[in-house]
Amino acid sequence: MSRGKFYHPEVEKIRRKDLKDLQNERLRWQIRRCFAKAEFYREKFKKAGLKANHIKTVDDLIHLPVVTKQELRDEQIKHPPFGRYTVVPATEWRELHPSTGTTGVPVNTIWSEKDEEMITEITARTMWSFGVRPGDVIQNGFSYGLWVAGMSTHYAAKRLGCFVIPIGASMTGRQIDYLLNPGSTVLLCTPSFALHIAENLKERGVALQQLKLRLGCFGGEGGTETVATRRKIEEGLGISAYDYYGLAEIGPTFASECTAKAGLHWAEDHYVIEVINPETMERCAEGEMGVLVITHLTREATPMIRYWTNDYARYDSSRCSCGRTHGRSVGGILGRADDMIIYRGAKFYPVQVEKVVRSYREMGDEFVIELTRDEKSLTDVCTVVCECLNADEDRDGLTRRLKKDLREELLVTPEVRIENFGLLERTTFKAKRIVDKRK
Ligand SMILES: [Zn+2]
Repeated sequence: MSRGKFYHPEVEKIRRKDLKDLQNERLRWQIRRCFAKAEFYREKFKKAGLKANHIKTVDDLIHLPVVTKQELRDEQIKHPPFGRYTVVPATEWRELHPSTGTTGVPVNTIWSEKDEEMITEITARTMWSFGVRPGDVIQNGFSYGLWVAGMSTHYAAKRLGCFVIPIGASMTGRQIDYLLNPGSTVLLCTPSFALHIAENLKERGVALQQLKLRLGCFGGEGGTETVATRRKIEEGLGISAYDYYGLAEIGPTFASECTAKAGLHWAEDHYVIEVINPETMERCAEGEMGVLVITHLTREATPMIRYWTNDYARYDSSRCSCGRTHGRSVGGILGRADDMIIYRGAKFYPVQVEKVVRSYREMGDEFVIELTRDEKSLTDVCTVVCECLNADEDRDGLTRRLKKDLREELLVTPEVRIENFGLLERTTFKAKRIVDKRK
């Protein structure tokens, strides 16, 4: 296979106007089939007073109500096991990938044969864009099984002509063994796990020169585009680190950074990306932060029309320096609505705490935000718990500095507790940053 800089050059460099036309054509097809074959959507469209032919272009989507995760859950409970939003017959179903929520019933997503092929191609495109090439040894530290990212990157790595080590999200010691022998060149996992592996490399006394690792792409949680986190991953593993994004209901690994590291590129030939102001439900202007709402243009089995992701981001359609014309979210995912902390009137996200904690050379990478209730004053207390690398550190001084920097970032001053290094729990999957101990 000889390709240049682009995996799908004809579509990655498409003129914006042609991209719009392609999106509109695919959207009409998708709306027609959802209306004809999925009772869930038919009901929804009717309630909104719409017929399939009212949605002619991407701009018309704003008239349709959004689909929330809770709505899909309720639909599945009422119409078990998969709700009435599957659009192909069961004989065409190939894989089940439920969402990995910590609360509530998981939401089922089904891939057909064609879906699987498309997911493989889109994921191969993302991997190519951050520099994966045939012959690379891919250490796939994304979780396999029901979680979506392991399978999609596995299929894509094979498609690209790479050698895959399907290790999954576990066994830090074995991860390091494979980094040494055969010497993986690409690492895929969550950013928390990447930092954990880097910490263990240091403990085992492995010099970065012993590794062949040259790049990594990190998703499943935000953080890779946080300056301090990216620097820690890159220095700790001796690589170039890129951001990856996906979610079960929409698709795994369908947005990644290119080598320009200028934000997540969307595959807009397959997805419509809207950024919505949650208060007015209007579209945000480019560059404004809002909730990502995503529509499947090509997904066959369980297409989502205006899925409310709960993830905050910005959108930018200007051409990237890499030459790709598809829109980007600069800075990646800026927060999850579910993770928002309201403390003494201020609203903030764990990613903001991360930015501050990881900018300190004296601190470890781990942190948690503890929420407790002071029984005397009956008020909530928010404590940022982190670790200092050196046990002899002047903790009072460090606490004072940290509080001041957190106040600047969060506009409220949390309590700070500094523990010894290694006390906080490490994760191989997604880190749990908020510990709510309030009754
Ligand atoms: Zn780019």
